[in-house]
Amino acid sequence: MAYKGKNNSKNNRVSNIPVNKNVNKNEYNKVNGGVFVYTGNITVAQLAKELNVPATNIIKFLFKNGKMVTLNQNLDDELIGEICIEYGYDFKKEKVISEENFEELEIVDDAKYLKERSPIVTIMGHVDHGKTTLIDTIRNSNIVATEAGAITQAIGAYQKEIKGKKITFIDTPGHEAFTQMRSRGASVTDIVIIVVAADDGVMPQTREAIDHANAAKVPIIIAINKIDKPGADPDRVKQELMALNIVAEEYGGDTIFCEISAKKNIGIEELLENVLVVAEMQELKANPNRYALGTVLEAKLDKGEGAKATLLVQNGTLNASDYVVVGAAYGRVRKMTNEYRAELKVAGPSTPVAIIGLTEVPVAGDKFMAFPTEKQAREIAEKRKLAKTQEELKNANIPTTLEGLYMQMQEGQIQALNVIIRADNQGSAEAVKGALLNIQVDGVKINVLRATAGAITESDVLLASTSSAIIFGFNIRPDAIVRKKAEEEKVEIRLHTIIYHLTEEVEAAMKGMLKPTYREQVTGQAEIRKVISASKIGKIGGTMVTSGVIKRDSLCRLIRDGVVVYEGKINSLKRFQNDAKEVAENYECGLTIENFNDIKEGDIVEAYEMVEVKK
Ligand code: GDP
Repeated sequence: MAYKGKNNSKNNRVSNIPVNKNVNKNEYNKVNGGVFVYTGNITVAQLAKELNVPATNIIKFLFKNGKMVTLNQNLDDELIGEICIEYGYDFKKEKVISEENFEELEIVDDAKYLKERSPIVTIMGHVDHGKTTLIDTIRNSNIVATEAGAITQAIGAYQKEIKGKKITFIDTPGHEAFTQMRSRGASVTDIVIIVVAADDGVMPQTREAIDHANAAKVPIIIAINKIDKPGADPDRVKQELMALNIVAEEYGGDTIFCEISAKKNIGIEELLENVLVVAEMQELKANPNRYALGTVLEAKLDKGEGAKATLLVQNGTLNASDYVVVGAAYGRVRKMTNEYRAELKVAGPSTPVAIIGLTEVPVAGDKFMAFPTEKQAREIAEKRKLAKTQEELKNANIPTTLEGLYMQMQEGQIQALNVIIRADNQGSAEAVKGALLNIQVDGVKINVLRATAGAITESDVLLASTSSAIIFGFNIRPDAIVRKKAEEEKVEIRLHTIIYHLTEEVEAAMKGMLKPTYREQVTGQAEIRKVISASKIGKIGGTMVTSGVIKRDSLCRLIRDGVVVYEGKINSLKRFQNDAKEVAENYECGLTIENFNDIKEGDIVEAYEMVEVKK
C-alpha cells in the first residue's frame, strides 16, 4: 500500500507560512554600493530621494526625452532604468516573496528534521522505443498480494516498492508533460530514465530527452530496451550515446546503463535497483513534519466528484482534511486516494495522491501548499487571485464584442480580441486556445487571457468585464448565477461543444461575415431533486425550477457539475399529475428528457429556445 505513516497529528507539523505574517514584507527601494535595488512601485519623488538628486532634475530629464511625468507618478521598470543610468547608478529589481507567490519560497529545513524520501522518476525517450510498455510493466510487476485485483485509477503517477523502498513514477511519458511542467517552474523529477530501443539506437527524441534532463540537472539512467529482438545491438547504442557525452561505466563514464526488455519483463528489477542506487547518491530528503507543499501533476473536472487533482507531495505531509491553496484556488481535502483508489489519511514526501475538494480545477505544474486553517488558506487564495487577475489584465487589450468586432475593425478601433476559454478539461482548453490562435485574419489578433478547465466562474465574468473579453465555454455551461452576472456586466458568453464550430464562428466574426439568424436563448434552469423510476416511462426527475421558466417541448441540456452530459429535448412536463405547458421559477415539477434516462439528483436541466435575431 502507499504511504501510511503514523497519523501525524496536525499540531506536529510546522506551517510553511507563519500565520498573518508575510515572509518578507519589507519592500525596499534603496541604493546599495552604487546599485539601486528596488522591488516594486516607486514614484519620481521617492526615486529622487533615494538617488539623492532633485526631483525636478528627473522630471526635466524625462521631459527632454519626450516623457511627461509628475512628482507622484509611479515609474515603470524602463524609466527607472533610464533614470538610474543617467545619474550613474546600476539597478536591479528584486522580487518580493510573499504569500502571493509562495512558489518562490525557499524552504530550508533544519537537517535534524530531514528524513529520506523516495526518488521521483520520469521516463522519456524516442517514440516507439517502449516508454509506455516500460511504465506498464513496472506498474504491473510484483503487485503485492493485497493489491492484486485492485482497480487502479490513472492519477498520473504511482509508487512501486522494491527491496522495502518506494519509487515514485510519473506515468505520463513524453517530453511535453516534462517541459510543460518545467516551463511552469515545476521541477518534480529526481531521476530520468531514457529508453533507447536496441534495434533503433539514438533518435532525435533521444537527444531531446538528454537535453531536457541536462537542462533540469537531473541524473540519467539509460534503459536499452527491446534486447529480446533479433536486431538488438546494445553496444551500438552505447557508442552512439558516447558521442553525446553519455558514457557507460564500462567505458569509464558514470552513467548507469541497463539492458532490458519491457515487453518480456527482462532486466526490470535491475533497472529499479539502479534507480535506488542513483537515488541514494542524491541523498533525497524531506521534512515530513511540516505542512505539505508540492506540485499538481494532473487535474480535471470529474463528472461525479468535481475538481479532481493529483498532487505530488514534495515536502511535508498532507493530511486528509487539510486546507490547500493551488494556483488561485483553495479548498479542503475532502478525500485523498492513491492509484489503487485506497483512501489515505496521510501522504508523506514523494507521495502522489488524487484529491477532491478544491473550488476550481488547477493546472498541471501549479504549486500547492497546505495550511492549518481555512481562514489562512482562503486569505492567501484571495490575494493570489487578485494578483493573477491584475497580471492577466496587463495582457488585455481594446474592448469588443464578437458581433461588433468587424465594425470596430473597420473603424480601426480594434487590433485584438480578448478571450477567456473554459473547457471540461485542460487538454480541451489548450486545444481551443491553439485553434483560436491559429486563426489568421489580417489586422486582428486573438489574445487569450485565460484558458483553463472548469466551469465558468464569476471571476471569469469579472475579468471579461474589465478587459472586455468574450468568454468561450467548451463542453461546459455557466450556472444561473454566472449567467446573471454576465448579463449584468454585459459580458458575452459563447458556448460550444465542437471546436470547429467555435473557430468558424470566431473567424467569421473576424472577417465580418457573422450573420446569426438564430440565437439560443435560455428560458430557465431547474434542478433535479429526486429521481423517480416509473416502469413505463423510465426515470422522471422530481425537479425544482431554480430560474426562469421550463417549457414543455423546449430544447434542453443536462448539466452535471458544470459539464454538459446530454443535449436533447424535454419530453414531458407535469405539475402533480397534470401535464403542464410551462412551469415557473420556484415551482416543482416532474419532467423527462427525450431518449435520455441517466438523470441523477443534483443534475441541472437547462431549457432553451432558438430565437430569431433581428437585424
Ligand atoms: P512508446 O512510444 O515509447 O511509448 O513505445 P511503446 O511502449 O508504445 O512501444 C512501441 C512498440 O514497441 C510496441 O509495439 C511495443 O509492444 C514494442 N515494445 C516495447 N518494448 C518492447 C520490448 O522490450 N521488446 C519488443 N520486442 N517490443 C517492445
